Amino acid sequence: MYAYFNDEIIDLRKGVIQLQNRCYTFGDGLYEVLRIIDGVPVFFEEHLNRLKKSADYFEIKIESSREIKRKVDNLIRINDFSSGELYIQLSRGTDLFREHGIKSLESIVSILTIPLRNINEDNWISGAKVVSFPDMRHGFCNHKTVNLFANVQAKSYAYSNDAYEAIMYRSDSNGKYVTEGGSSNYFFVKSNDVYTPEVDNILPGITREKTISLLQEMGENVVQKRFYFDEIKDADEIFLVSTVSKIMPVKIVDDFSFKIGEKTLKLIKRFEEMIKEYKKSRK
Ligand code: PMP
Repeated sequence: MYAYFNDEIIDLRKGVIQLQNRCYTFGDGLYEVLRIIDGVPVFFEEHLNRLKKSADYFEIKIESSREIKRKVDNLIRINDFSSGELYIQLSRGTDLFREHGIKSLESIVSILTIPLRNINEDNWISGAKVVSFPDMRHGFCNHKTVNLFANVQAKSYAYSNDAYEAIMYRSDSNGKYVTEGGSSNYFFVKSNDVYTPEVDNILPGITREKTISLLQEMGENVVQKRFYFDEIKDADEIFLVSTVSKIMPVKIVDDFSFKIGEKTLKLIKRFEEMIKEYKKSRK
């Protein structure tokens, strides 16, 4: 298996660890995860757009989307990789002095193809179990930064409780409200409306965006606002969304159980169709 490290193609068995890379010393970098399906990096433009926006915000240099796409296509070909995950990391660069302050450095793009993580198929059929966990993250959660310590804790807590995902919360004067999962966004169907947390220090997920537009096409009323934990028990349907989880029904949140409803099932179908249409347009 090969990977890109800037313009070099590297044999992963030999490995590369550049010890002064600021991603390694400070977590000073950004990343994207895409699905590759039938050799097509799905929603590439949207993912690159999000990466570029954050790179500009944090003043990290980034090469053109066209150049990154050329490398991605080349890597898919060299690795003969038809299905799995694509990881793109943008590090601020190599800093020999390990000084905290931002400097203008040559950034580093690394690109890896990764086998699709092992997910129990039954999660999509019977629904996933999720458990609540406090959101202890920083104030840059609307960017996909490599600082994932708190997400790692949240997901590990979920796994050790036999759950697929965490559902994280913060608190305000009205109580606990849902932010997002360790690596997913949440939706709640209640009295015929569909609620999802507004982008308030959460990742504007690509799948979240696609889900909102599909729901609107389906004629649903999507409300983006704080959704409080005490509203969860009255939800008719709950599902989580992400690049890797796609649209996944949620069956259990802590002590409460939910049915998989019509809206979730219709959405799963529409999302698969959307991916098919995307692949067709890129072949
Ligand atoms: N929130 C977090 C914290 C994530 O890590 C992810 C996965 N990238 C998501 C939401 C879902 O985003 P996307 O649909 O772009 O994969």
